[in-house]
Amino acid sequence: MRKEIKDSTDASTGLTRRTFISGVAGAAALTLMPGERLYAGSGKNTIPVPPNFPAGIPLYQQTYTNWAQEISVADVWTCSPATPADVVTLANWGYTNGFRLRPLGSAHGFAPTILQRGSTGANFLLVNTMDSLTALTINTGGSPASVTAQAGVTVQQICEACEPYGLGFLHTPAPGDVTIAGSLAMNVHGAAFPSSNVALQPGHSYGTFSNLVLSLTAVIWNASTGSFALKTFQRSDSAIGPLLTHVSRAFVTEATLQMGPNLKLRCHSRVDIDMPTLFANPAVAGSNSFGALVNQYGSTELLWYPFVQTTGWVKTWEVAPTKPSTSREVTTPYNYPETVPLDQADQIAAYLRTYPSTVPQFNQQSAAATQQMMTPVAGDEDTQVYDLWGSAYCSTLYVQPETLRLTTAAWGVVLNHSNIQRAIYEFYLYLTNTLTALGGAGMYPYVGPVDIRGHGIESSSDVLISNAVQPYLSGARPLPDHSSYDVILWFAVNNNVDQPGAASFNTNLESWFLLNYSTYGIVRPEWTKTYAYTATGAYGGGWTNTTLLTKTYPGTFHNHGYSSNSNWNAALSTLDSYDPHRIFTNPFLDTLMP
Ligand SMILES: Cc1cc2nc3c(=O)[nH]c(=O)nc-3n(C[C@H](O)[C@H](O)[C@H](O)COP(=O)(O)OP(=O)(O)OC[C@H]3O[C@@H](n4cnc5c(N)ncnc54)[C@H](O)[C@@H]3O)c2cc1C
Repeated sequence: MRKEIKDSTDASTGLTRRTFISGVAGAAALTLMPGERLYAGSGKNTIPVPPNFPAGIPLYQQTYTNWAQEISVADVWTCSPATPADVVTLANWGYTNGFRLRPLGSAHGFAPTILQRGSTGANFLLVNTMDSLTALTINTGGSPASVTAQAGVTVQQICEACEPYGLGFLHTPAPGDVTIAGSLAMNVHGAAFPSSNVALQPGHSYGTFSNLVLSLTAVIWNASTGSFALKTFQRSDSAIGPLLTHVSRAFVTEATLQMGPNLKLRCHSRVDIDMPTLFANPAVAGSNSFGALVNQYGSTELLWYPFVQTTGWVKTWEVAPTKPSTSREVTTPYNYPETVPLDQADQIAAYLRTYPSTVPQFNQQSAAATQQMMTPVAGDEDTQVYDLWGSAYCSTLYVQPETLRLTTAAWGVVLNHSNIQRAIYEFYLYLTNTLTALGGAGMYPYVGPVDIRGHGIESSSDVLISNAVQPYLSGARPLPDHSSYDVILWFAVNNNVDQPGAASFNTNLESWFLLNYSTYGIVRPEWTKTYAYTATGAYGGGWTNTTLLTKTYPGTFHNHGYSSNSNWNAALSTLDSYDPHRIFTNPFLDTLMP
């Protein structure tokens, strides 16, 4: 029999039994260092050990902190299964013992899909996939070539393992230490943009990582046995549709992804184009506008610090089988020296919160630092980073543990490629006008930088098998009633965590997105980041607007000509059938995906 699952975050009284117990325990509590584990049975635990826990699966008390350090929950039971079968055992244990399971990769997610800020972690078990679910097989002889990775294998590990076989991704998310299952759950992407100048190689996709999946294995409820079991889904099976991007409403143990050739790319960084040129009005935009650059090069990324007119950082990636004479060859990723030690990053963040009027100056310094980074030191070849050449992942992976910890509001706008310049011009106007007005009133709720990437949408023809099913919940899913919307612009609006006034700023920004692009695009949230703001909400306002969470954004997967067996409601009900007792969920997901 299943025990009732209670979540103490929902308690309206504020002081639940568990909060009280942990508060009392906290008086004598150890403060766990990041990553520190207090194993069950060590005699050091400060919270009650979960009952009847399966023998042989390492169980420990740990603090869960996400990368941005925006969410931190002390004293959470966490475990490290050795095999996919262990995950099944854990799911069945959770069902009978009143615990919900939260898969845990490298904790780079921003959205509260693992635990929410303020959660006590009571009756949740985090399932760490990175310790042992790390098997990786490269299937070079397959048609197409593919890689089969267990949940906890990182994107970087896949890239490195595939490279000797001449296989690789076209593009990757910025950090390499994210897990493949965490990436697929949340629909990650890089900057893979279709350009007429570049032919797509078989095995690659201009879509997100979800569009590379050939099959995956998940922990699925079996109604006839009344228990969970592993089940493998093929990409041609419509039942895989909701699992390709499931926003963490499932537990995936393994995935097979098609791979393409390991292209050699030239990554050219430019810091010489001023912002009004990059963001120019489309009527007068020239060859250095963002729209022109994506048309020419395809994969393009723009980083911009608001309040800085003169400098952005534009990266273009070009396929280059042989090394251009101006480029420096790189054989490993993370070639930009963006290292701010964590304690220093914390100090910067606190300073910006305390003295918000220093934001423009901070941004000028950040932009100047970027300029400096792009200026090689004479005689030191390693400092030449503006023009890199090597295997794709060596220039697409660049976020490191010591990259400044920021939070991110993020939306994708699905539109026609001819409207890219218009879209970013209007965004630039809105942002600069808004920030100028706020600054004039002495308010600095936004720090930056802004990151904009063009991307293709999920084309089934990129998948090298017949009848490939679309990822139903991917932000880059094509819209049947807007067949001219052929690309997606991802806007990541990075900010200092808890910057004063951010909730109101973000709420207005999101309203602007939804209104402004409604005439020529569809706005969707980037699931892993921040969206659905209210001006009074916690977290800088994110994830608190129930209208957006339950109507507006679901509607973008429901109301656009999708068939009744592949729309939002169908996806949710399929996910429910895979987990009818809602073991793989949490209060945030209960709102978003009821
Ligand atoms: C600095 C920074 C830069 C980033 N840049 C990019 C980028 O360029 N492009 C992009 O798309 N994203 C980017 N991200 C977001 C990141 O790629 C995603 O958040 C990704 O999901 C993180 O993977 P993870 O292993 O850290 O997952 P976690 O954060 O550990 O988990 C994310 C979600 O996936 C779920 N999950 C994890 N494993 C499984 C599993 N086995 N089965 C089911 N669900 C699972 C978790 O429960 C959680 O809800 C960035 C994040 C940071 C912090």
